[in-house]
Amino acid sequence: MKNFILACVLGLTAALAHADLKIFATVPEWGALAKEIGGDKVRVYTATTAFQDPHRIEAKPSLLAQARQSNLIVAAGADLEIGWLPLVLRDSGNAAIQAGRPGYFEAASFVNRLEIPATLDRANGDVHAAGNPHTHLDPRNVLKVGEALTARMAELDAPNAAAYQAGYQAFFAKWQMAMTRWQKEAAPLKGVPVLVHHANFVYLLNWLGMKEVGTLEPKPGVEPTSGHLTGLLARQQTVPAKMVLRAAYQQEGPSQWIAGKTGIPAIMLPYTVGGTPEAKDLFGIFDDTVQRLLKGLR
Ligand SMILES: [Zn+2]
Repeated sequence: MKNFILACVLGLTAALAHADLKIFATVPEWGALAKEIGGDKVRVYTATTAFQDPHRIEAKPSLLAQARQSNLIVAAGADLEIGWLPLVLRDSGNAAIQAGRPGYFEAASFVNRLEIPATLDRANGDVHAAGNPHTHLDPRNVLKVGEALTARMAELDAPNAAAYQAGYQAFFAKWQMAMTRWQKEAAPLKGVPVLVHHANFVYLLNWLGMKEVGTLEPKPGVEPTSGHLTGLLARQQTVPAKMVLRAAYQQEGPSQWIAGKTGIPAIMLPYTVGGTPEAKDLFGIFDDTVQRLLKGLR
């Protein structure tokens, strides 16, 4: 019996050692990137779906349990998860994944962040001191984050370093080709003015040369009010937007109201992996986003 238990323990240890790197991704996009790089060397747990507002997640026991067993946290950073991730990390009791440790990775640290406020005033809503945290919708950022994440994964799991490098190189080559295609397809979108529900498309619009002329939220993180929407409607006379964008996780009511009053299309974008049936992976997010925006132009 003792030997049997010992054999089981050894077997389990071997199995765990084989599971290699256990990654806790806060959001689908970075979970998907870790999987692209790590392939079968990693086990990726993704804490949220495309239908959840990543700012507002409950620090549930299931998240703590996952964080406790993880070797690496992959977060968006720039305060996106400030409302829940610090609690999860603290209560996980896992020293290796605390902020500042190699087991803690923030995507936003590796890109040029947009909208870093000149002054900090909480009266302006959920203002992100570290800049806009929704960095993944510029595909160039995905590569910057991918390079840094590969290095971090290799550091934490040296025996698989070569596999991570190879995984990233393969992804890089495919991504470069896809970016060329997206940029070509999206050319008609250049200069197109849009309204957005929340400022979570800043990097996308910046990459495509589109113009954000207003947000349906009166302040970041504050739900649209009828007074604010009426104001936007009046502004259509002087600063006309061509479409109104929202993420899959945002309620459609405010967009639909603007669309109904103005006749411009309300476009739902996947925002992240799983947001639409087409957005099956990172490539799918951009394929589908570009197609949906082009459809909005017609
Ligand atoms: Zn935000």
